[in-house]
Amino acid sequence: TRIRPSSKRCAVIGGSGFLGRHLVERLLEKGYSVAVFDIAQRYEVPGVAFHQGDLCDKQALLKVLKDVSLVFHCASPSPACDDRNLFWKVNVEGTRTVIQACQEARVQKLVLTSSASVVFEGIDIKNGKEDLPYAKRPIDYYTETKIQQEKVVLEACSKENDFLTVAIRPHGIFGPRDPLLVPILVDTARKGKMKFIIGDGTNLVDFTYVDNVVHGHILAAEHLKPDSPLCGKAYHITNDEPIRF
Ligand code: NAD
Repeated sequence: TRIRPSSKRCAVIGGSGFLGRHLVERLLEKGYSVAVFDIAQRYEVPGVAFHQGDLCDKQALLKVLKDVSLVFHCASPSPACDDRNLFWKVNVEGTRTVIQACQEARVQKLVLTSSASVVFEGIDIKNGKEDLPYAKRPIDYYTETKIQQEKVVLEACSKENDFLTVAIRPHGIFGPRDPLLVPILVDTARKGKMKFIIGDGTNLVDFTYVDNVVHGHILAAEHLKPDSPLCGKAYHITNDEPIRF
């Protein structure tokens, strides 16, 4: 018989990123032992085992995932890169590899960072719920692959195989060390390019504070059990109120 690793042994794939690093820091505070797997190392934290590797490489993943019971997958090429092949390779094929590695290493839970854009058809959504269908015409390549990625992860959920999955769907994330959202807004404003309004000024955009996104991930992980309704489901995560632009 195999002795199960402690449920507090986890790995964060994409742990060098904006969200991933906040997640790592919170997990450490909560007493988890954390391994980071990422193509780049951008910081050092005492007590965190860092592994540099590509999530498309199953052997590299397997080295990290043995003795891990919980995996957070929050790695993705930047939405700004617009490289369709790279999105497919990492977000879809790579995520399949992550699932295979998790199953071979007998990881019990996988929490995916998906995106609220998987249900966005270019038309305003207010109080949208998780029963909205996937977008038929995703707004870009990134979103097209986030849809496929989420499907692959949720379909892999299997109580019989002792492998449970859940997906969390944030929209824009803001908070300390955000590399994209606020810096781009400030830069655009400095260049004098914020003088125009698209629409009538009542467009809604959903932004969530990074700590809330992290909280949602950890809650999902801790409540993901064979008899819980979370199994194989996706959840939107947001602040209380949308921000009016
Ligand atoms: P980020 O770019 O800061 O972090 C992503 C990390 O993934 C980086 O550290 C990068 O090195 C790593 N990575 C990329 N390709 C990899 C590969 N092949 N193998 C291993 N690691 C790889 O992005 P983020 O903002 O922290 O986003 C994290 C997750 O949240 C992503 O899945 C993204 O789709 C999702 N998301 C982000 C936002 C947002 O507003 N930031 C909104 C919705 C969803």
